Amino acid sequence: MEKLRNYVNGKYIEPLSNQYIDNFEPATGNVYSLIPNSNEEDVNQAVEAADLAFPIWSNMSIEERSAILVKVSEGIERRMDEFVAAESKDNGKPISLARSVDIPRAVSNFHFFATAILHFSSESHYMEGVGVNYTTRKPIGIVGCISPWNLPLYLFSWKIAPALAAGNCVIAKPSEITPYTAYLLGEVCNEAGMPPGVLNILHGLGSTVGDAIVKHPKIKAISFTGGTATGEYIARTAAPMFKKLSLELGGKNPNIIFADCDFDTMISTTVRSSFANQGQICLCGSRIFVERSIYEKFKTVFVEKVSNSLVSYPSNPKTHLGAVVSKSHMEKVLSYIELAKAEGGKVLTGGVQIHLEAPYENGYYLRPTVIEGLAYDCRTNQEEIFGPVVTITPFDTEEEVLMMANSTKYGLAGTIWTNDLKRAHRVANNLESGIVWINSWLIRDLRTPFGGVKASGVGREGGWEALRFFTEAKNIFIKYE
Ligand code: NAD
Repeated sequence: MEKLRNYVNGKYIEPLSNQYIDNFEPATGNVYSLIPNSNEEDVNQAVEAADLAFPIWSNMSIEERSAILVKVSEGIERRMDEFVAAESKDNGKPISLARSVDIPRAVSNFHFFATAILHFSSESHYMEGVGVNYTTRKPIGIVGCISPWNLPLYLFSWKIAPALAAGNCVIAKPSEITPYTAYLLGEVCNEAGMPPGVLNILHGLGSTVGDAIVKHPKIKAISFTGGTATGEYIARTAAPMFKKLSLELGGKNPNIIFADCDFDTMISTTVRSSFANQGQICLCGSRIFVERSIYEKFKTVFVEKVSNSLVSYPSNPKTHLGAVVSKSHMEKVLSYIELAKAEGGKVLTGGVQIHLEAPYENGYYLRPTVIEGLAYDCRTNQEEIFGPVVTITPFDTEEEVLMMANSTKYGLAGTIWTNDLKRAHRVANNLESGIVWINSWLIRDLRTPFGGVKASGVGREGGWEALRFFTEAKNIFIKYE
């Protein structure tokens, strides 16, 4: 059985404890590799390497750093097929999605921040007749980047790339559920000429190695993407140590559909925004609100399209929905479907696990599920499910739908469908949400601020926001006389 290793100081090494944990293939339910069960000792070792590398990396010219990161981007692109196959196998996502979204986006993340840093500048504030302030922005030092399983290399690189571009050394931990593409990344970094110790990738559980990263006194900032409960724990641990924190957490996003929208575009996008990546994207719209005058039409067309979606093994090029990421996650999603029924919901399509033919008979496959008839404030409509399950709810007025949309503790993203210009802006303005898409979904410009409000997180990623997060500002004033 293949054993993955940690990437520390430019080398692939075994975990110091020599302990491993199972890595499952969601498509079959079989263990297909072992990953290091790293602990505090491995973190200490990685921090020592990063400490030695920091002066080298941070003093390198921006152009040299940029060139190395461009090579990382090109290195992933060169090995596209290998990365795509690995991501799909590790996560259960359709291979077509890994090829069109996940891996190209990892390539773009490195390229975007490698070039953005060339244009990053700091401010100066002139005081008439008194003097001038100028602000320097230096790398923080060693930073920790912890990422989830849903978009493995996509989100891992979204943190690491700006951290490295800004001149920091990084201790990074991918999810223990999807470690494989992060494992491959070390090879690409070595080929690109990244100095040893600049990026260190440790595998293992959140409660051990993740916790040790958060607690290490020399790790000065933590960029975390994952669940709200984990984010809360990390904030509680890191805040008294005065670490900089960026927390990208859970969501329960509303998809608001007015009767005057372009119906066909809305339907096809809503199928995607509900079920892409088996509904396991933090930006998926899991609560669909439909203006009452088109509710029945929407329900008929949407349910038909969803029922026709192909649930199949990830390497099938025709697959719309692959396997969900793990057995325990599948069981959690199924338990929410039971809860929805108990709360009075009616399952219009889906609602069950399916068993494919061998060798996929033990894979984690769920039919995409649409539920109606639930109160907006029931648990099914308030708690994050993070799977192929959406609810549909009719509304009569703008005020009513805004009240329902804003009723959860989350505030990550929202979608609005209408051709009424004033209403589109008004509703977008009143949504309690960090991101809003109007008549579209998941169109991303990497320069824009990305993140949520309320329990969906603290801070923003993307563009200058990320480079500001990964640098420390110092203002220097000089008096003229
Ligand atoms: P999770 O919180 O269980 O784990 C995320 C990462 O944190 C993993 O690498 C895990 O090992 C690590 N971790 C767990 N406990 C830790 C601890 N005590 N200390 C340090 N690290 C720890 O989340 P998940 O199940 O992997 O991901 C799903 C969640 O991520 C969902 O809630 C989803 O909404 C959220 N998410 C948010 C965004 C966003 O941008 N806001 C993007 C993707 C996913």
